[in-house]
Formats: sequence, C-alpha cells, structure tokens
Amino acid sequence: MRLLWLSALACNGNAHSLLNYPGFQEWQEDFHWLYHPLLPSRYTFPEIEKGIEGVEVLIVDGTLEEGLIKNRLPYRELLLRYGDQAERIVTVGTCATFGGIFAQGGGGRSGLHFEGDEHLKGYERFWEKTVSLPGCPVQPEVLAGTLSIIRRRDPLPLDTLHRPKYFYAYTIHDGCTRNEYFEYKIDEHHFGTLEGCMFYDHGCQGTFTHGSCNKILWNGVNSKTRAGTPCLGCTEPDFPREGLWRTPKHMGIPARMPLGVPRRAYLGLAGIAKAFRIERFTRPLMEDEGG
Ligand code: SF4
Ligand code: SF4
Repeated sequence: MRLLWLSALACNGNAHSLLNYPGFQEWQEDFHWLYHPLLPSRYTFPEIEKGIEGVEVLIVDGTLEEGLIKNRLPYRELLLRYGDQAERIVTVGTCATFGGIFAQGGGGRSGLHFEGDEHLKGYERFWEKTVSLPGCPVQPEVLAGTLSIIRRRDPLPLDTLHRPKYFYAYTIHDGCTRNEYFEYKIDEHHFGTLEGCMFYDHGCQGTFTHGSCNKILWNGVNSKTRAGTPCLGCTEPDFPREGLWRTPKHMGIPARMPLGVPRRAYLGLAGIAKAFRIERFTRPLMEDEGG
C-alpha cells in the first residue's frame, strides 16, 4: 500500500514513534513510502510539490496553520491535492487531530477537522475518509496496526471523533496496575514509586482519557501510570490542560469524574471506600516486613 506522509508544524515525534514499532521491518514489507520525512522514500519533497500520482493513504502530521508554506507551496494546496487522491486520510498525533501543543494561543492553528473539540468545516469533504490517531506521540502499535487494518480493508469501527475503537474504546485506567489504590482512594505522594493512585491529588486523567497505554505498553515495557507519573490526557481534544500534575477539586472532591460515573454515585462509593483502612496499601510494597 502506498503511503504519503505530510508534516505541517510538527516535532517529528510521531515519525520517530513509528520507528519504535517492534515489528517495523516486517511491517514495512506491506507498505511503500512515496514520501516520509525520515525513511527512504520513492520521491523527494520537491517532486511531491510538483505532483505525483498513486497516493492510497495520506498521513497528516502536525498542527495546521493558516497560510503555512511548506517549502514552496501552501500546505493547504498539498493537503487538498493529495487528500482528494487518497482513499483514506490518517491524522497522526494530537496536533494533526485536535491542534495539540502548537495550537495553544490560537493564531489560526488547528487539527485537520478539529480545533480542540470544535468540529471545523475547512476540510469537510475529507471527513468520511479520515481516521484520527491522537496521542503525543501516537503509540507505534496504534499507527502500524491501523494502517494494516486499512491495507486489508477490514472493518474499522470509529468513535465520534473518528478514533478507531480497537485502540481508543478503552480508558488509560483500564489495565493500570494501580486500580486497587483507586478503589480505596489512596493517592500516590511520591512520583515514581509503585504505590498509590494519582487520581485524587496528582492530576491523573486516566479514568477519562481514551487510549491503550496500559494494554499495549510503551516499548513493550511500561506506561506513565505504571511508572508512577499521571496520565496527562494526551489523546483528548483538550490536551494540554494547565496544572497537569494536580487534581482540580470542588470542596475536596475531584472536579472531573471517571468517564460515565455520575457524581452522586461516585460520592456514595467514595464514602464506603474511605471507611476501609487496608494496611497493605498504606506502606511501600518493597518495605521489609520483618523490619
Ligand atoms: S493512576 Fe490513573 S490510571 Fe492508574 S488507577 Fe489511578 S486514576 Fe487510574
Ligand atoms: S498515559 Fe496518558 S498522557 Fe501518557 S501517552 Fe498514554 S494517553 Fe498520553
């Protein structure tokens, strides 16, 4: 399958992330790069500007900006030309999907179809063929896996933001090793340690962030929350928020509830959970019990 990768305002994090896909060499045998900013490609960028044929999937990376010139041509012109040609468009990373970090402060910057959670109409004719793969950066398995599904022309169910449900139907909370601490409302007070849930004080957004980070571990090894750092919500339209390492609260209760949990139900459950004091959750797991 023939792929064209077009970067707008990007840090190349998504392009690098793909290189970390464990089965990368084998995976690449099914794909042909017409252009990629880091990988050997069939065409140079000036040739892409002149015009090529045969693009099957257009991969859009980075934040879009009004009037952006890419080398010699307006980026919009390239997007329209190759977006029309491609069967599918994939927005890779949060910047290309929702605007992300480079869109902070406005200035006519956005994702392809969204500015945060606002649905824009500038590229509406591409909406039906677009797949959104947010993440800062995207997980390599999510990008490689989605492109393989597209290549096989298998069904690819999407959510309302056009994220593939295979990877984004879950929350980061799903699979986190700290779930027991969440249940009993015990927060983590020292970043990087094994104990505690970071929802209550330390800003973890895992309970309302869609993604597979605790099901498909980064580098096959770990995730933020497993390592002891809160999930920063990087796959969501409102990333990045302010005050990422603390939990906003109203009257001592986290302002934002876990996905789908009514506040009243949460308060009832929290009251019961707090009534327990379970010793094994209150001391470091590696502490010498004999000491
Ligand atoms: S640290 Fe975050 S992801 Fe893990 S259990 Fe707590 S809220 Fe869920
Ligand atoms: S744990 Fe959260 S912030 Fe970290 S990569 Fe996954 S979704 Fe993004």
